[in-house]
Amino acid sequence: MSLLWQTLFLAVFLRVFAALPQCSDVNTETEFDYAVVGAGAGGGPLAARLAESGFSVLVIDAGHDVHNVNTTIPLYFARATEDPQISLDYTLDEYPPGFRFQKNDALYPRSRGVGGSTIHNAMINVIAATRSDFDGLADMFNDSTWSRDNMQEYYKKIERNKYTLPGPDHGQDGWLTTTLNPLLAALNPKFLDVQTVAYFAALAISDVPLIDFNVTSNDDAVGGSLPSFTIDEHHNRSSVRERLLDVEQSSGRLTFSLDTLATKILMCNGTDGKPTAYGVEMAPGAGLAVASNFNGKVDLDPILRNVTVRREVIVSAGVFQSPQLLMLSGIGDSSQLEQFGIESVVHLPGVGTNLQGKHLTSSFDPPNDDSSSLNHDEIAIIYKMKQNFSIWNGCTFLYTLEDDPCLAFWQETGGANIYSFSGAFEVTTSRSVDSPTPDIFAYYAPAYFPGFVRGVSNASRAPVCPIDPYPSCLDVGFQQELIDRSHNHATVINLKAHPSSKGSVRLTGAHPQDPLDIQKNRFQAEEGPQDVADLREAIKRSMAVMNNLLIEGFIEGLEFPESLDTDEEIEDHIYQNIFGHHACCTNPMGTDDDPNAVLDGDFNVRGVNNLRVVDASTWKIVPGYFITTPIYMISEKAADVILAAAKAD
Ligand SMILES: Cc1cc2nc3c(=O)[nH]c(=O)nc-3n(C[C@H](O)[C@H](O)[C@H](O)COP(=O)(O)OP(=O)(O)OC[C@H]3O[C@@H](n4cnc5c(N)ncnc54)[C@H](O)[C@@H]3O)c2cc1C
Repeated sequence: MSLLWQTLFLAVFLRVFAALPQCSDVNTETEFDYAVVGAGAGGGPLAARLAESGFSVLVIDAGHDVHNVNTTIPLYFARATEDPQISLDYTLDEYPPGFRFQKNDALYPRSRGVGGSTIHNAMINVIAATRSDFDGLADMFNDSTWSRDNMQEYYKKIERNKYTLPGPDHGQDGWLTTTLNPLLAALNPKFLDVQTVAYFAALAISDVPLIDFNVTSNDDAVGGSLPSFTIDEHHNRSSVRERLLDVEQSSGRLTFSLDTLATKILMCNGTDGKPTAYGVEMAPGAGLAVASNFNGKVDLDPILRNVTVRREVIVSAGVFQSPQLLMLSGIGDSSQLEQFGIESVVHLPGVGTNLQGKHLTSSFDPPNDDSSSLNHDEIAIIYKMKQNFSIWNGCTFLYTLEDDPCLAFWQETGGANIYSFSGAFEVTTSRSVDSPTPDIFAYYAPAYFPGFVRGVSNASRAPVCPIDPYPSCLDVGFQQELIDRSHNHATVINLKAHPSSKGSVRLTGAHPQDPLDIQKNRFQAEEGPQDVADLREAIKRSMAVMNNLLIEGFIEGLEFPESLDTDEEIEDHIYQNIFGHHACCTNPMGTDDDPNAVLDGDFNVRGVNNLRVVDASTWKIVPGYFITTPIYMISEKAADVILAAAKAD
């Protein structure tokens, strides 16, 4: 670093305000080398690696371990988003005040517990379209380990590939099992009717060739494919949950503190004068304010306890909670922290903002407004079919074998029916007119799915029932018409990669259980109208697929929305029903001269020793089309970086 940059860095980042204790005065007697806050896609893989490498690791998570039909049977994923044991039910504003569309109680589901949101997600496993993201990081940090080709090595390390022949870009021995929907199950004559055959045929001929979206040569491929999923050969969800539980058993060095809320990073003044993380303040038994069983804010003081670490604290609490934890600890925009009476430790104005750009109702003006995007833009359209898809015959999405013949068949046959499928039957990628690379990902399913809206599990015919003891959903208002809705509809979702929207995550108070103010500012960037236009054209392409002669005759008509005849109608539908489920980038990595950077290229929180952030918030730009597998990849990279640092000590 040149002297000029060093001076700038010290001036901008190291404005240390709070009176921290000297590290030499802090009692760091502890059982743990590392503490990892968050057992999800970001925290899980690295926690497992550190424990396997001989270090003691405490994993703190606000949820507990849940293993039930919702978290294991692939097609129950929609219901998992509202499973009261795991669900985190965020509310956010899609649009700023005054915009002509308002969507201010939008649902953003997340999940808690061992595995984090990987125990409820839709399991779609796609790395394609990340070349510019990874190569961009390699260029930015002048560090070839970030290159797309090098990052594939991490995928090979974690993958246990069950869907394609072994090849140079696939792994066979990792902890994440990848496969395709079990086509043989769908092609069982027992389930096939002429409409289902026509639907599959129409999708199959809509795009050739079949593309493996997880090999580097197909990063920028245009065309269609059967998607790959993180599902194992027994047709159960595969995720980092199993990895963590395995390493807990095998290493004896990984300890969980579950149902525990991390409330603050403990810091002291290091010998170099820098704030230095030495532990985590946590509240066992306290819940996240957005948990479905949250009963309101409590006085945490009586239950708070400190855990100290010999080496590092890694924050992996996800896109909303990681910036909150940093801010509660005094790391963020100092003037905003002061508004809530939080003593500033390090002034990092990018915390909770990056990508998110301007929060229109605050005075905060991000210094680097053109950096990245908060989330993918996704929009569904739904057709009503003239008859049911027979692959759904008997499926009620209930909990008992008596109530659900489909579940009984799934168990009897080892998963040989539709419940072994995940959300997409066919996916295609395409390029918007002005985009240098493919940027639209469309997924098709013979089901009713309007997006992640409140009550989505009911909307898509998967009613949420109390879990234990397994009751009959008939007791809680189960209705035949809802069953019919899933059996005779077809959904297409279009996703726009690398969109321009920039939002923010802000505190509303200094209490760890105060809700967050989450603003998406959807389509508010200069390129917002272009994003809408790109989605509009993508919807037209999907309508052409659905109007294919093979399937057209089986369609009764559009249902969601009822009409898409004009550009204006399509755009209105997009504005009114946009959703997304890949929020990211609220603690962005960046270079020394980027005043909005929260992390450096080694995941370190700038201006703080022994503190890193590794999760969805780490990215500078929302990666590719789908983000879980790329998060797993950066978590494995972070493990390498942390282990190398430990070795160098
Ligand atoms: C409904 C849905 C479907 C999705 N489907 C897909 C898909 O098919 N493919 C794909 O690639 N991506 C998908 N995603 C996205 C993906 O699952 C997430 O982006 C990813 O899991 C984020 O990883 P993370 O580590 O940042 O956070 P998470 O996996 O959410 O983990 C964060 C963990 O931190 C814990 N935590 C938070 N705050 C605290 C605190 N203060 N103290 C203690 N613990 C805390 C939480 O309990 C949680 O377990 C989906 C997302 C949703 C919502």
